Amino acid sequence: MEKLNYKINQRAADVARRLKKIIDFHELINVSNVSEFCLAYDIVFKWNKESCKIVFGEDESQLSSSMKLKLRKMFAGIKTEEETKLSKINNFNKALFKFCGSVLDDELLAKNNIYGPLSTYRAYYFKKEFREALNNYFKESKFYDFFLLYFKSSKRPIGEAIRCFKKLKEFCASLEPVGSLLRFEEMVYPLELVLKNNLNFQNINWKNFKYLYETNFYILLYDTENQMEVKIYLINKNFVTQKWFLSGTLRHNEIFIDLARQNFKSFEVFQHNFFIENKQLEVNSEKDLYEKLGFNYIYPELRCGGCEFFKNKEELNIVKFSDIKSDLHVHTNFSDGGNSIEELVDFYISKGYQYIVLTDHSVSLSQGRGLDIDKLMEKNDLIDRLNKNIKNFKIFKGAEVDILEDGSLDYPDLILENLDFVIASIHLNYDLDKNAMTSRLERAIKNPYVHMIGHISGRLVGFLPIYSVDLERLLKLASEYKTIIEINGNPARLDLDSSSIKLYKDRFKNLYAVNTDLHNIKQFNTRFYCSVMTARKSYLRKNDIINSLDLDEFENLIKTIRSEKLMKKNSLF
Ligand SMILES: [Zn+2]
Ligand SMILES: [Zn+2]
Repeated sequence: MEKLNYKINQRAADVARRLKKIIDFHELINVSNVSEFCLAYDIVFKWNKESCKIVFGEDESQLSSSMKLKLRKMFAGIKTEEETKLSKINNFNKALFKFCGSVLDDELLAKNNIYGPLSTYRAYYFKKEFREALNNYFKESKFYDFFLLYFKSSKRPIGEAIRCFKKLKEFCASLEPVGSLLRFEEMVYPLELVLKNNLNFQNINWKNFKYLYETNFYILLYDTENQMEVKIYLINKNFVTQKWFLSGTLRHNEIFIDLARQNFKSFEVFQHNFFIENKQLEVNSEKDLYEKLGFNYIYPELRCGGCEFFKNKEELNIVKFSDIKSDLHVHTNFSDGGNSIEELVDFYISKGYQYIVLTDHSVSLSQGRGLDIDKLMEKNDLIDRLNKNIKNFKIFKGAEVDILEDGSLDYPDLILENLDFVIASIHLNYDLDKNAMTSRLERAIKNPYVHMIGHISGRLVGFLPIYSVDLERLLKLASEYKTIIEINGNPARLDLDSSSIKLYKDRFKNLYAVNTDLHNIKQFNTRFYCSVMTARKSYLRKNDIINSLDLDEFENLIKTIRSEKLMKKNSLF
């Protein structure tokens, strides 16, 4: 019992320490004096005779009376002169929550749009239903759950993690991602990186990063701009193996080790190193590591669990970055893009692409500076002129046309007919009921002039759930009509998402396109990476992805899609 108490108190202390930092950075509650608040926290987490005296006594030298009052209210139930005991821990949790906001299971988080401590705090104060759910939860609260859930609430969208990583690379170019960023998980916490050599971190001016602390194994930073905790592991020897341990999920690593034991009877793991017949396994790359243990090389983004990849080489045959020859969703400075058509063409040619589709917004989208018909015609004339002078590259005339509330499109058929490629997307009025929203998208999928539906689910990673739609019905219909489904590489979107793609890809065999939805050339690298990684995480192959087609194949395909859809439409009359 003694021991258990000690352990739980240790955990309490851990949590309290973390929360102290969080409060400091997120400014969760209106504390005028953060250092006093931290002091109060110290007093709380090592709750003993001394703390009791400070909080409930008359001496005001350590805590102001207002802070005392807060603590008194919180700890009315734990007015004890003994050290915090097991039975008191739940009260302690409640107290922590009252102070900082806490978290619950995924469903409750999603329902209340909670993606971090700040939104938890807001929901607690403004949503009665959420407050009640929390109070119920605390009745059966277990300390460990609280701890885990806190971490869940702190996850940040991968776009923020990428931004944060890029900023850190400016300070230290040799940083490499591990953990959830390397695996391309949508929500990341903390951002985990590795570094080969030990730098003197204290001397670096981290600008937006707060330096928290360091141990012999890692340093901890906090990115105040992206609200991201960053853990940089310092690896001095056996870099490949040590890094490997930080790359996969626990489940992947367990399967790896179990299977390695089956392959080599004398296989041993000791302090994150591998041994066979008591000799340390020497490897020069991760590929080498997998091969030496008798496995297929498994890409980091597939190291999430499941043993199918170890056994079946075919499963690993996913689309490659080098398969991509085009971008089908690009905005120019005719609408809200930042680059001229000429700049875009030069840029994509320099990337080795064969073709792009220029898809500015349609007339109704004033926030995206949508093109009226005259402007669209002017742009198309320019494209025709440019195409005459470029070799081995083609600009297709397209548009990202808004799907209006009734499912009709924002340009008349006469205009759509003259475009090579039409994306239909929803940007406005997306909170219709499920039936209305589904039929709206169904009408667009069936529209003979529409080649592709842009960001079909409308979700924003970590912020907005998918539209209220029947995704299964939509993907089935899109497959019947050969309407392409976009994988939008905007890191805030990643839409359609990889779990939905995985769920339906074998059933409906949809055509997919990986696009950047580029508004500025500067966005290209991240968005290209994000779109292809989403496809890879969805196990899509080269021939599932339209952008892998050569120019003439693509040209044929888009003509076929349109003529087949027109025939289908006419046969219905
Ligand atoms: Zn869009
Ligand atoms: Zn767009």
